[in-house]
Amino acid sequence: MRYLYIAGKWTEAADGGTAQTINPFDATPLDTLAEAGTADVDAAVAAAREAFDGPWRRSTVTDRAALLAKIADLLQRDREQLAHTESLDTGKTVNEARADVDDTTAVFRYYAGVAGADAGRVVDPGRANVTSRITHEPVGVCALIAPWNYPLLQISWKLAPALAAGNTTVIKPSELTPLSTVALVGLFEEAELPPGVLNLLLGQGGTAGQALVAHPGVDLISFTGGLGTGEKIMAAAARGVRRVALELGGKNPNIVFDGTDFDTVVDNALTAAFLHSGQVCSAGARLIVQDSLHDSFVAELAARADRIRLGSGLDPQTECGPLISAAHRAKVERYVQLGLSEGADLLAGGQRPPEPNLAAGFFLRPTVFAGCHREMAVVQDEVFGPVVTVERFSTEEEAIRLGNDTAYGLAGAVWTADAGQAERVAGALRHGTVWINDYHPYLPQAEWGGFGKSGIGRELGPSGLDEYQEKKHIYHNTSPGPTHWFSG
Ligand code: NAD
Repeated sequence: MRYLYIAGKWTEAADGGTAQTINPFDATPLDTLAEAGTADVDAAVAAAREAFDGPWRRSTVTDRAALLAKIADLLQRDREQLAHTESLDTGKTVNEARADVDDTTAVFRYYAGVAGADAGRVVDPGRANVTSRITHEPVGVCALIAPWNYPLLQISWKLAPALAAGNTTVIKPSELTPLSTVALVGLFEEAELPPGVLNLLLGQGGTAGQALVAHPGVDLISFTGGLGTGEKIMAAAARGVRRVALELGGKNPNIVFDGTDFDTVVDNALTAAFLHSGQVCSAGARLIVQDSLHDSFVAELAARADRIRLGSGLDPQTECGPLISAAHRAKVERYVQLGLSEGADLLAGGQRPPEPNLAAGFFLRPTVFAGCHREMAVVQDEVFGPVVTVERFSTEEEAIRLGNDTAYGLAGAVWTADAGQAERVAGALRHGTVWINDYHPYLPQAEWGGFGKSGIGRELGPSGLDEYQEKKHIYHNTSPGPTHWFSG
């Protein structure tokens, strides 16, 4: 049984509600979870408020940086156990889960390092006997809501800067993958974080999540998840004019010009599209390939997709795990049908795997559609599964036009041997991250976020800390006297 964590205590839900989390590999139960209702949301927000108004407010940046560095150490100490938990809960390979723990550690270390690096600034007031400075202050109580694909990593992109800036927090992981977040909260307890600074709610988005974002005691909402949920959350944040940051979906172009190393580019296109079974917000799910290369490229891509080994994330031989749930696989399968009905050519996958040992899990074979064009829904919508579409282009202008022909704008890539072309295309793409001759790496010190419907605000880098800070101007007249503005 896993509990809520409110005001420094592990607790059942006030109404005794529970839910099960299951293993997507075989649909067996993994654990029972307390399921928060509105009374628990009220208690968590009240605890966060009390902590914000209490000693945490007087904590120094140095204290908070030391805490984040300690969490980084504890994450590395528990690396194997955390990776195992994450793999079981999400279905991803344990290798990928290890990389997630390392990336999470790097984020805590980064914000431990930068927390005190910028204490504000002194400005020239342009007059005698005045000093004027800008200071940074925490925003207050922050509601941090994470999705199921990168549970540990996504909550940490929010939690590390929120705490570094001196806020208190109420966090809610996805109901589908809460276990690594529960473990992370255990590490904060071990590091003796004061009660109320970090509160954990487990539960459904439509109940606990909705009550949390609607709560008037919340000053800031940071959300990562789907576009539809993001729109609801932005509407909720409008009531009371609360701050909101949204990291939403993507339909990310991966543009391939002829002339780069063939094996390298095909290999990277596979990783871009099928890492974590394509359940990645920045997945390279929309390949845009130059005419002269197209036919050989798609043939090799499909052949290699057919060889991807599916299985349990814990099996070292596995290259792709299952999708997260039966409902999510059904959604992805509807897109496969839609792609077929729209006239795309199915070159690989499109089916559940035939192996009997995979029948109980939520598997789908990596799927390659060629002959796609921009009007197809399977090209425009975020499918969020192991489905890649391939379009073709002839000129650089056409590649840029296609790459920007999306309502989203999270990430994209360009593969070319021509450095000038690389810079022209990268400069023209309207996406928050553009990779040149690579796909997927991100850096804790570099901003991450989306143009268009991929979101509002930025995580990581200095901007990721800014999201959690109020800026205050302190104007000090050291020699005050009458203004003589009014004569009477
Ligand atoms: P989701 O929107 O269904 O849920 C995300 C979180 O919001 C969960 O914790 C859920 O319980 C909660 N939630 C749901 N409804 C809510 C409501 N009404 N009020 C408050 N909270 C609510 O998303 P998901 O299916 O978990 O995640 C997949 C999506 O996340 C994809 O669209 C993906 O692109 C996106 N994503 C984006 C990034 C990024 O960096 N931009 C990273 C990872 C995932």
